[in-house]
Amino acid sequence: MRDNSFLAERLDQIWKLLFPELERKNNVLIRFKGNWRNKFGHIKLLKSKDTEIAINGFFKNEVIPEYIIDLTIAHELIHYMHGFNSPHEKKYRHPHQGNIVNKELVKRGFGEMLRKEKEFIKNDWPGMVKENFPRRRSFRFF
Ligand SMILES: [Zn+2]
Repeated sequence: MRDNSFLAERLDQIWKLLFPELERKNNVLIRFKGNWRNKFGHIKLLKSKDTEIAINGFFKNEVIPEYIIDLTIAHELIHYMHGFNSPHEKKYRHPHQGNIVNKELVKRGFGEMLRKEKEFIKNDWPGMVKENFPRRRSFRFF
């Protein structure tokens, strides 16, 4: 199982290699959180003024390919760069307007991973959800 120090290492590597000009203006924490069927991650500005990047807790499981985690980290870093939940100047009104995140991901060399992620979401993720996130029934037979 992956842990939070794995995430911290991935974040540092991705930041250094692929976002070298992006200034780290505050503490950026990263951790596994929740167990979400419909989102891979989020970014949040905490009361302490640190930024928190959360990665779906289910992704500790090694059935999730590593590039899915890398891509999720890069996606949240782009929000940080655009000034959403970060001390950077806000560059857009909405975090996902006009496909700005994916455009930036392509620019940074994640195009092939984005294509693979699309396939993963279509072919693999629904089965994993079905297997690992049983829906609560509104009634039981006994
Ligand atoms: Zn987003």
